[in-house]
Amino acid sequence: MKKVLPLIAFFSIIFLFGQEKLDLDYYLPNDVNYNSSIPTPEKVIGFQVGKWHASHDKIVQYMYALAEASDRISIEDRGKTYEDRPLLLLTITSPKNHEKIERIRTEHLKLSDAKISATVDLNSLPLIIYQGFSIHGNEASGANAGLLVAYYLAAAEGEYINELLDNTVILFDPSYNPDGLQRFSTWVNMHKNQNLSIDNSDREYDEVWPGGRTNHYWFDMNRDWLVSQLPESQVRVKTFHDWKPNILTDHHEMGTNATFFFQPGIPSRTHPLTPKLNQQLTAKIGEYHAAALDKIGSLYYTKESFDDFYYGKGSTFPDINGGIGILFEQASSRGHAQQSDNGILTFPFAIRNQFTTALSTQKAGLNLRTELLQYQRDFYLNAQKEISKDKTKAIVFGDASDRSKTFHFAEMLSRQKIKLHKLNKTIRTSGLSFTPDDSYIIPINQPNYRMIQAMFEKRITFQDSLFYDISAWTLPLAFGMNYADLSNISALGSEINTLTFPNGKVDEKSNYAYLFEWDDYNTPKALYQILKRDLRAKVAMKPFVLNGKKYDYGAILIPATNQRKSVDTMYDLLSNLARETGLNINAAQTGLTDGIDLGSSNFKALDKPSIALIIGEGISSYDAGEIWHLLDTRYDIAVTKLDTKDLSKADLGKYTTVILPNTSGSTLNTSLDNLKAFVEKGGILIGYRNSLKWLNEHKFIKLDFEKTKPETKDITFSQRQNFRGAQVIGGAIFEADIDRSHPVNFGYHNNKIAMFRNTTVFIKPDSSNYVNPIQYSKKPLLSGYISKENLKGLSGSIPFKTSNLGKGKVIVFTDNTNFRAFWYGTNKLLMNAIFFGKLM
Ligand SMILES: [Zn+2]
Repeated sequence: MKKVLPLIAFFSIIFLFGQEKLDLDYYLPNDVNYNSSIPTPEKVIGFQVGKWHASHDKIVQYMYALAEASDRISIEDRGKTYEDRPLLLLTITSPKNHEKIERIRTEHLKLSDAKISATVDLNSLPLIIYQGFSIHGNEASGANAGLLVAYYLAAAEGEYINELLDNTVILFDPSYNPDGLQRFSTWVNMHKNQNLSIDNSDREYDEVWPGGRTNHYWFDMNRDWLVSQLPESQVRVKTFHDWKPNILTDHHEMGTNATFFFQPGIPSRTHPLTPKLNQQLTAKIGEYHAAALDKIGSLYYTKESFDDFYYGKGSTFPDINGGIGILFEQASSRGHAQQSDNGILTFPFAIRNQFTTALSTQKAGLNLRTELLQYQRDFYLNAQKEISKDKTKAIVFGDASDRSKTFHFAEMLSRQKIKLHKLNKTIRTSGLSFTPDDSYIIPINQPNYRMIQAMFEKRITFQDSLFYDISAWTLPLAFGMNYADLSNISALGSEINTLTFPNGKVDEKSNYAYLFEWDDYNTPKALYQILKRDLRAKVAMKPFVLNGKKYDYGAILIPATNQRKSVDTMYDLLSNLARETGLNINAAQTGLTDGIDLGSSNFKALDKPSIALIIGEGISSYDAGEIWHLLDTRYDIAVTKLDTKDLSKADLGKYTTVILPNTSGSTLNTSLDNLKAFVEKGGILIGYRNSLKWLNEHKFIKLDFEKTKPETKDITFSQRQNFRGAQVIGGAIFEADIDRSHPVNFGYHNNKIAMFRNTTVFIKPDSSNYVNPIQYSKKPLLSGYISKENLKGLSGSIPFKTSNLGKGKVIVFTDNTNFRAFWYGTNKLLMNAIFFGKLM
C-alpha cells in the first residue's frame, strides 16, 4: 500500500479502464501508514472497491467488520427501511472521546440553546461532522467511496489522523437510501461486461423503470428532511437533532458529461432565512475541496448551479439548524465506465473524487473547528434576538373535526424538536375556535425559532425567479390545518412531552345504525375496512342533525340490520376500527332526523373500490409512488400496480377504479381501446396533471385549456434559459374556492382550500357553476413563485373536472393532490374520487 501511485488522473483512467490493477493505492493518501489489523474492504466484501457496485448488504457487512476491529468506531442500527434494511450509523472518533461521548454530545447541544450556550468552552469541544452518502441510490459512487472513507478513518495512523479524531466526532451514515442502492447495484452488476462497455447505449446504463434513485415507494428522499414523512428520514432527522452537526455532507452524482460540483451554489438562490455567514463558511470549506481536487487533477466547478433554497434537501436542511450543509455532485458513470465529454469516465474515478472530498471535509472541519462552533452558537443567539422583535408570540393550531391530521401535524413538528404546549383555555380568533382537547400551541420563544419560521412562513417575493426545487412549502397550508398567530402567550398550558394518538370509540351499541362524519383524515381507512368486510355502508348527500349533533355532507351511515354480521360482531368490529383510526362513531337508535332521515334516497350505497394504479415506462414514478404509498401505508387499501407495457391486454373489468398518474401518455397509445372500454362499461378513470392532455386528445373528456403566452421581445440569447425557467411552476401554493355539497369536497369544512401545483395545465371553467366545484380564486397565490403570465392563466381556472363516458366516469385533477406525502390537506380529494366517484 505504500508504493507510488500514478499521480495523473489521465493515466489512472487508462490504467483502470482495463481494470487489470485496481488497488487501494489509487484512492488512499499514499503518505500514510495503515494499521494492518483493520480489514480492508476487499478482504470483507470479496472485491476491490470500484470493481463492482457494492450492494447494501455488502456495505452493512463491512461496517460491522470495521466496528468490530476498531476502537475508534461504534455502530448502531437505528431502524429499518420499508424493505427492512438496517439504517446504520457509525460514530467515529478517538477512543478517548468515545469514553466520554455522551458528555461531548450534551455539551455540544448547549450551543443550540442561547440561554446556556455561553458556558460552553469552544477550545475543548470537538466539532460534529455528519457524513452521508448516496441518498439517490443510483448515484452510487458516494456510498462506494464510503467504504474507503470508513476504512481510512479506522486504519490510518499518524499525527494528522490522531488530531482529527481528537477534535471531531464523525457521524458516518454509510447509505442514506439502502433500498434504492440495493436495486441499482443489482441492475448495473448484472449487466457488467468483463471487457467494460463504454458505449452509453449499453443496457447497463439504461436502468429499468423506476430506477434506483428513490426508496421503496419511489420517493426522492432528498426532499424529505424538513417534513420527514419517510422512515429513513425520521431516523436521520433524529440523529441530526440528537447531535446538531456543524457540517453535514450529501454526496450525489449528476450527468455523465459534467465534472464535479461542490457548494456554494447559485448565491441569489439562498433562502433568506439562512445567514450570510453560512454561505461564506461554505465557500471557506470549499477551498479545502478545491485544493484536494487540484492535487489529484480533477476538474470541478462551484456557484453556477444548484441552490440552498428548499430546507427539505439534505444540504440545505442544516442551514436552518446552525450548521453548514454541503452538496457534492460527481459526474456519473451510472455503471462501470462510460464515454463522456471528459474522456472515459470510470466508476473508480468517480469514487476517488467522492473519497477525496470526504477527506477534505474532515480537514476543513478540523481547521475551522472553533469558527464553526462559534457560528453555531451565534446562530442561536441571533435567533433569540429576532424572537424579541417578532410581534407573533405563539402559534395555535388544531382541528376538533380532524384529530388524526392534527396529530400528524404535531408529530411532524416534534420530530424537528419544536416544543408544543397544551392550551389552558379555548381561543377564538379569526373566525376559528381552538379547544384545549384538540389543539396545540407553539411558543415562538424557543431555540428552534428559525425552524418554526421555515415551516410556517408564506413568501411571495423572491430575489430570483428560478428554483432548483419547490418555491413554497408552508406546512399548515399543506396540511389544510386551522392555525392562527397569537400576540400573547396567555393561553399557554404545560409543555407536551409525549404525543398521544387520539382516542376513538363507538359511543354505544345499536340495533339500528351507526354514523360517523367524513372530516377526519383517517375516515377512508375506516370505510375501506367496513366495505372490505362485506358490511353495507352509505354516504349522506346532504347534512342533517341527529341527537343534537350536526352531520355534514359525506357522513357515513352503517345500518345495523340486514348485514352479513351480527349486531354484536359489528359492534366489536367498529369499536376496533374506531380505536385504530381515532374516529368517533356514533350509534343511531332512530332513523328520524332533523334533515334527511336515515332511510332517505339522499343516502347513497357505496361499493368496495377495487383499484388499479398505472405504473411503468412513461408514467412519473414520483407521482405513482405517492399514490401507492398513500393507499398502501396510510389507508391500508389494496392496489394493483399495472405496468403500461401490459395495459393493452389487462383484464380491467376486475377493477372499479383505474388511476392514471402524471404522464405525457406516449406509452398509453396501444392501450387506448382497452382503457376506453373500461370506462364505457362503468369504470372510473382518475387522471392527473399532464395525462389530461392525452385524455382530452383521445376524447375521454372534453377540456378547454387556457394557453399562456409570455412576452419574449427583450430577451437575449444568454438570458433564454432563465427566461424559460421563470415560466415553470416548480411548486407553489394556491387558493381555490370549493362547493362543499359536491362529493369531491366531502369532508372539507371551509369554503376555501390550499392546493399545491407544479404544472402549467390550466383548464377554463365551465359556464355552469355547479360543474366547477373547485375553482382557483381571482387572486390565488398563497405562497411561492409564479410568473405574471401563469398567474393570469391560473386565476379562475379549475383544477378538477369530471364527465361521463358511456356508463363510466372520467375524473381529472390538474394538480398533484398527494405531493411528497406531506400534502395531507388534499389527500381527501383523491379518496373522494375513489369512494364517491360514481356520485359525481
Ligand atoms: Zn442526487
